[in-house]
Amino acid sequence: MEIRGLNPDMERLGGGYLFSEVARKVARYRREHPSVRTLPLGIGDVTLPLPHTVVNELYAASRELGEADGFVGYGDVRGMAELRRAICERYARRGVELCEREIFINDGAKGDLGGICELFDVGVSVVPDPSYPVYCDASIIAHRRVITADATEENGYLPTPHDIEKIPALIYLCSPSNPTGAAFTHKALAEWVEHARASGSVIVFDAAYEAYISDPALPHSIFEIEGARECAIEICSFSKSAGFTGLRCGWCVIPTSSPLNKLWERRLACRFNGASCLSQRAALAALSSEGERECSKNIAYYLENADILARTLDRLGVSFCGGKHAPYLWVKLDGSPFCGNNKCGIKSSWDAFSFLLERTGIVSTPGVGFGKRGEGYLRLSSFAPREDIVESARRLEGLGV
Ligand code: PLP
Repeated sequence: MEIRGLNPDMERLGGGYLFSEVARKVARYRREHPSVRTLPLGIGDVTLPLPHTVVNELYAASRELGEADGFVGYGDVRGMAELRRAICERYARRGVELCEREIFINDGAKGDLGGICELFDVGVSVVPDPSYPVYCDASIIAHRRVITADATEENGYLPTPHDIEKIPALIYLCSPSNPTGAAFTHKALAEWVEHARASGSVIVFDAAYEAYISDPALPHSIFEIEGARECAIEICSFSKSAGFTGLRCGWCVIPTSSPLNKLWERRLACRFNGASCLSQRAALAALSSEGERECSKNIAYYLENADILARTLDRLGVSFCGGKHAPYLWVKLDGSPFCGNNKCGIKSSWDAFSFLLERTGIVSTPGVGFGKRGEGYLRLSSFAPREDIVESARRLEGLGV
């Protein structure tokens, strides 16, 4: 039977999803080189186990579910009030005043990053190039036109609104950025806020990696910028800050002064029955003082990994961005050992991905998977066990000889 009436824009999504393609190529390499230990600097998934505080809370919360007076069923669609309060307190520590009604708990950031399109008529999305592919793909599925805001070496890999038409749009921004690791300053973010207010746009600020910011002068939230309450929402996650990539929990901030707050609540009522009560309890534990201490230790571990890779790249004389406020390093290929110093005829980031895999067993991510402007780059992730990072550094040094 021919199924009619499918979403024609699904065709605009192009081929396989980036990471499935990487996994396919790595599986083939492993089949062909069974004795080589591959080193996973590709996918941005955490590798350290959950903090003890979180695990203990999961045990306690599970036991309570099996008791008559501890059992809970459906909860508030916006999430547990206690968790929303704890998130507000976390923002307050950075001087951002929010109330519980402005926080919506989700099951991780990804769903909301795409779901937000449902509040808007078909229109324009402004998406950094390169960026996390979901912004572009979700916009396409929602029939939106995508305009890219280039993040290049010239602008420090941080897109600016200077060349963006002043039309109403959904503007996706991510800081610190996946994949470039670059983080916005207050001044650079303020320019986007000004642009959004002048054009009737809404900024969707993805703060999934804010916990990795190591310079106290950099903003962690768009709401640290004056005027952002009028024109921005923020989506954040426990995935990379507390190791919840499997457990699933995050949140979305929508100011009550914005009509989007009521609309989002209405949309949730028909789309969502709330995040798992177990992951919400676990998230609350991650925000306790002991939980935060353990999470910070894990983040420091990944940042130390990033530093080991960064120092290796420096020694090799490779130009790169990131690794300071994010678990990613954005490596420029041109003339570097990553493309055989331009002597091996390597043209594309997929070729460089294969070259690196063949020569060192290191799995990276081809920059072009994050957008056209990612061509000529590879992303290295520091979410790997320390021994794999140290071994990667050793093999990279060999690549430079
Ligand atoms: N935003 C960015 C920039 C990411 O890199 C990721 C995951 O890698 C997400 C959001 C999704 O996070 P979550 O696990 O909370 O869905």
